[in-house]
Amino acid sequence: MQNRVFNFNPGPSALPITVLNQIQKELLNYKSTGMSILETSHRSPEYEEINDSAIALCKEFMGIGDEFHVLFVGGGASTQFDYIPLNFLPVGGTAAYVDTGTWASKAVKEAEKIGNVHLAGSSKDLDYTYILSTSELDIPEDSAYLHITSNNTIKGTQWHSFPDTENIPLVCDMSSDICSRNLDFPRFSLIYAGAQKNLGPSGVTVVILRKDFLEKCNPDLPTMFDYRTHVNKKSLFNTPPVFAVYTLNLVLKWIKNLGGLGELEKITKAKKDIIYNLIDTYPDFFRGTVREDSRSWMNVTLRLPSEELEQKLVAKGKESGFVGLKGHRSVGGIRVSLYNGVPLEAAEKVAEFMEDFKKAN
Ligand SMILES: *Cc1c(COP(=O)(O)O)cnc(C)c1O
Repeated sequence: MQNRVFNFNPGPSALPITVLNQIQKELLNYKSTGMSILETSHRSPEYEEINDSAIALCKEFMGIGDEFHVLFVGGGASTQFDYIPLNFLPVGGTAAYVDTGTWASKAVKEAEKIGNVHLAGSSKDLDYTYILSTSELDIPEDSAYLHITSNNTIKGTQWHSFPDTENIPLVCDMSSDICSRNLDFPRFSLIYAGAQKNLGPSGVTVVILRKDFLEKCNPDLPTMFDYRTHVNKKSLFNTPPVFAVYTLNLVLKWIKNLGGLGELEKITKAKKDIIYNLIDTYPDFFRGTVREDSRSWMNVTLRLPSEELEQKLVAKGKESGFVGLKGHRSVGGIRVSLYNGVPLEAAEKVAEFMEDFKKAN
């Protein structure tokens, strides 16, 4: 593919080339309607088919049934930081949160504006370089829910086993690792994710919501901030982000064609192994920033011996067709984001490039 770079952008991020080609192919005339999906009513049968298909594929991949609702809403994952306590933190109640990095901290900050928050655990003591074990968490028995962030996009850590919360509903921000690996999805009461990292473009947020959890929803909420509004209208109460949901559906179909989440997980593992192997082979040059048992399969974060070398690697990378390797401005260093849309070949090629860079420097 001429002029296409290897794209490691942290979000919005790479989309599968087959998805982009299909969008291009049907952009002017969607399914013989004589118009673009961009110009199509969200009340049309064409859009209904897209909405239904995306819901069905999410359910299929996550192994969830009619005990869950699947919503596609606007506002990004950040708006969910407010939705969740507004809907599920009762007056006088307490919600437990685990603080594992930038996005988790933001979720805590929003919930504190709405009600009582109990910090069940934090890895701030070591600059968020690890994930707490279940025994390190302090979850009050009467918590309305426990909120965690499955993958910490900026710090490069990821939960590899989840706390057993028994009767306390588990709520999870999966924005940067949703549908990249097989998980026991039904154990979560609420999962949410901005689509722009693993499942599509920005503009749509996926919300997976257990029906029995929804029954505990607070009364008298503003209409648009009440989950029931969107559940009752199948995400069609107001105009949904049609083009984003259409693209999301194409990405889900692409995953289906690969063979589903099990197959995708194999690719995810192969990609992260290639980059971590570099860190393990040359630990003095490529210094991993997080504890080994907490390594993210999506965002590999590392430091080089000097900031000068880091800048040089980013610049050289860009010249050689590898973009998006700069660490988040708040942490510096290098970050290799390996979301679903990043092909295995990209991980192989960037590892070769990095190894050559090491030898030359
Ligand atoms: C990117 C990201 C967000 C923010 O998503 P928006 O859709 O931009 O609001 C939240 N949480 C995590 C874990 C993220 O990676």
